[in-house]
Amino acid sequence: MSEITQAEQYLLAQIRAGDSDAWTQLVDRYQGRLAAFARARLPQRADAEDIVQDTFVAFLKGLDKYRGEAGLETYLFTILRHKIADCYRGRWTRDVCLLQDIYQSDRQDSNISDAFSHVAGTEPTASTYARRDEQHQLQRQGLNQALRELINSFKKSLNFRDLQIVELLFYCHFSNQDVGKIMRLDEKNVAVIKHRCLKRVREAVDKLSITTDEPTLENLLTEVWEAQRLSCPKRSTIGAYMLKTLEKDWYDYVDFHLHKLGCRFCRANLDDLQQQNKQEEPTLLRNRIMESTLGFLHKA
Ligand SMILES: [Zn+2]
Repeated sequence: MSEITQAEQYLLAQIRAGDSDAWTQLVDRYQGRLAAFARARLPQRADAEDIVQDTFVAFLKGLDKYRGEAGLETYLFTILRHKIADCYRGRWTRDVCLLQDIYQSDRQDSNISDAFSHVAGTEPTASTYARRDEQHQLQRQGLNQALRELINSFKKSLNFRDLQIVELLFYCHFSNQDVGKIMRLDEKNVAVIKHRCLKRVREAVDKLSITTDEPTLENLLTEVWEAQRLSCPKRSTIGAYMLKTLEKDWYDYVDFHLHKLGCRFCRANLDDLQQQNKQEEPTLLRNRIMESTLGFLHKA
């Protein structure tokens, strides 16, 4: 996944100026995948649509807080996840993939910080401000860069096995033991690959003169990976997967990401793309969203 693009920034500038055509364009672009995500989490179709509508309202209301830390899609998904968490008594869980439902390993969800807890209408706490301080921002940026380089090197050399392993470790927070089971590898091999990756990231971060101890580094690393969805394939790649036009190595990787790991965000994209292929008109939900959000547009 990429960070916020120039096209997205231009669209946002228009929306900030109160341009309703730009807002319609944004809603049209993202409502389908958000609705697909919500429907997978909430049993009632009507509840899912309410929550997507609330998400767009919250997005407009908090527009001044969005600095492009992540791409628009990931940012909207984050607000949506907060809204869904509210339905489950405010418990924020890092359930980014279906496989986590099967392997309930020793993940300590409540202790891991959420990179975007300052959005989506929740009151900012003292620790939120602390996390947003300058040093922390630098660390996140440095890690973001180092991780992107690591992931790109795996992709370039078609080393999808190691990419899958680190994805399971850092995106899904599985233990070495669980990753071993999933990948049919010895736990020790997983530990070696993990160590090698952490070393590479550590070297890149050290070059930037960013000081962090080991547990902080690992914690920040998982936070950045999820906040940026670093290993998620682009929507166009998911489209090519759907049309079976990807070369084999890539096809297998995307298949792993969608179906074995079961990334909820990418599955929502696939679902949305499949709906679009059937040319079902999403106008009803769109009209509802437009009706409930346009009043907020000019105030944003
Ligand atoms: Zn994904």
